[in-house]
Amino acid sequence: MNLFVANWKMNMTRGQARAYAEQLGQIVGDGRPRVDLVLAPPYTALDAARDPKQRWSIAGQNVAAQREGAYTGEISASMLADAGCRYAIVGHSERRRLFFEEGTVLAHKLERLREANLTPIYCLGETEEERARGLSAVTLTRQAETLASDPAAAPLVVAYEPVWAIGTGQAATAEDCANSCAHLRGLLSHRSDLLILYGGSVTPENAPEILDRGGVDGFLVGGASLSAPSFAAIAGLTKNPGS
Ligand code: PEP
Repeated sequence: MNLFVANWKMNMTRGQARAYAEQLGQIVGDGRPRVDLVLAPPYTALDAARDPKQRWSIAGQNVAAQREGAYTGEISASMLADAGCRYAIVGHSERRRLFFEEGTVLAHKLERLREANLTPIYCLGETEEERARGLSAVTLTRQAETLASDPAAAPLVVAYEPVWAIGTGQAATAEDCANSCAHLRGLLSHRSDLLILYGGSVTPENAPEILDRGGVDGFLVGGASLSAPSFAAIAGLTKNPGS
């Protein structure tokens, strides 16, 4: 089943999250949606974004590399599980770039998620400069090495998120996306339960084309996920609200 993840980043108070969940619930209706929906709110809004009817799941946007203890400001995998999360995002380019998270620490985060029975949404993608130098595939290969000791039979979501496309309004073309995703599928061919998402300036307008020809199983959506109608349209549950 296709998967659509809303990464709210550092947006939404609890009140706003409750209003969003209410609106999304009205759009989805009472039955199970025909796609998997995931909301990744800030930690403080996890509970407000949760759906008692389980029509969508919730995800942490990050997780601590340690199990527990004196790590002020961190949130552990078991705390995420306790808050009702099913997933957590690991290796988002904003974490890599702004908080200097790389290979070893990301591998520890993956281990912590597995201990807590949570599914990682592992993000990777090349920078503009790497792309210009023809190093996209090399970068993806290097970043995928972090998954080397992650159990091959465990469910895994990988999000291909070229850094140059995130928040820029310049989404990858379906062809670019298909090339990178084919490379990733080759690297991860030993995985038995793998979904590959695309992320980077996805909108209700460009989503159908990328989903159709980009070789992906869904999207990780930032900016356009902050409105429930827009996120639902990207997930194909309604018509584009802007059209
Ligand atoms: C993201 O940050 O994961 C993302 C895909 O952002 P945006 O959709 O805003 O480009």
